[in-house]
Amino acid sequence: MKVIAMPVGQLAANCYIVYCENTRKAVVIDPGADGQSILNRIQYEGLEVGHILLTHGHFDHIGAVKFLKEQLGASVAIHSGDAQALTDAARNLSAFMGEHLVQVPPDVLLQEGDIIAVGGITMKVLHTPGHSEGSVCFVVDSPVKMAFTGDTLFQGSIGRSDFPGGSYEQLISSIRDKLLTLDDDYTIYPGHGPKSTIGAERVTNPFIKYYVR
Ligand SMILES: [Zn+2]
Ligand SMILES: [Zn+2]
Repeated sequence: MKVIAMPVGQLAANCYIVYCENTRKAVVIDPGADGQSILNRIQYEGLEVGHILLTHGHFDHIGAVKFLKEQLGASVAIHSGDAQALTDAARNLSAFMGEHLVQVPPDVLLQEGDIIAVGGITMKVLHTPGHSEGSVCFVVDSPVKMAFTGDTLFQGSIGRSDFPGGSYEQLISSIRDKLLTLDDDYTIYPGHGPKSTIGAERVTNPFIKYYVR
């Protein structure tokens, strides 16, 4: 299984193309902008994208959803708590940036425990509210351990919880009760910034050290 990271847009949100090398089946996580470059990479790699998966509905993570859905014929999946953000510029926060970004309604509403098949790989959905109501993380246990953590957990930091729909208490309990139950050797792929591991964050992330216990 392979992961291609592409920082896109003004806020450099990480778009991830995750694929099964045997079947070339893929998912795209958080295509926030630069749809044409994402599409070029998918075509260059010869991938077949079944799903566009969203960790949450903020504008910097959804900006190329409509374009890629049209180009790829892939389904769009988001948690119900953030579903309206796809078609509501106030909810996806673009309105506060002086823009009016709307995409397409979702095809699939994600829930805690859902399993997404990507060729021979399965991904599990963890509902991790706090940064937004419908924030989720996508976890792969095998053949490699990894978690796509959106804006819930970053290398050395945690997500903001002061946007509408955010909750500091929920964010902390999502990290403590969901993400930190993963083993230390899970690689985390955050919504912004470099990758890390659960083990490294457990020891070095100041928010986890001081607030999560
Ligand atoms: Zn966000
Ligand atoms: Zn973001």
